[in-house]
Amino acid sequence: MRVAVVTDIHANLPALDAVLDALAPFDALWVLGDIVGYGPYPDEVVARLRRERAVAVRGNHDAAVLGDLDTSVFNEDARLAVAWTAERIGTTARHWLEGLPETRIEGDFTLAHGSPRDPLWEYLVSVPLARRNFAHLETPHAMVGHTHVPLVFREGDGRIETIAPSDGSTLTLDERRCLVNPGGVGQPRDGDPRACAMTLDTETGVLEWHRIPYPIERIQQRMRRQGLPPRLIERLSYGL
Ligand code: ZN
Repeated sequence: MRVAVVTDIHANLPALDAVLDALAPFDALWVLGDIVGYGPYPDEVVARLRRERAVAVRGNHDAAVLGDLDTSVFNEDARLAVAWTAERIGTTARHWLEGLPETRIEGDFTLAHGSPRDPLWEYLVSVPLARRNFAHLETPHAMVGHTHVPLVFREGDGRIETIAPSDGSTLTLDERRCLVNPGGVGQPRDGDPRACAMTLDTETGVLEWHRIPYPIERIQQRMRRQGLPPRLIERLSYGL
């Protein structure tokens, strides 16, 4: 089975469309949360995911839009974008987001937005945090998003190594456990403005990372028209 794995779409429809078109054909689509928030296409993004029968978990921005999470810890731009989304999102999209769990298990993988032990909040960015999450993990591997940066922690013989995948990188899963981040679709933050996503071949255990260009000016124009914060518009050009 070929699985497309995406995260942090953030209501960026041009990026999601480009990614799904580039990764097709796939047999399943896994989504690691932050489906909305920041971008101007919340309904359209949810509609595309529903059409693709996506298997998804919720992220902190999704929970914030639903009113399930206090946004006082968000920065001002993020808070404004959450408020903008909460005001405009349609009932169908809202109901679909409300049905998403914080974690789910698919085969050998736990899917979570931030981390397996703290799915809405924790940024999995260091070996000590990875170690605590391996101890918590009930499946061989996990997939997480939240940082918008592609990254792998791999544990073997009590040691944890860090791997930073780039465009075209592959990793074959073996008996060593992995915490895998596919990188962000709708707002990459590793200095490369192209959308980032991953595929998994469940037969061979091969993961592959993909960078996919998309029409950034299209989403920026729409964000300007909707009066979304300028900093959120500009950062898309730089992938920061
Ligand atoms: Zn995010």
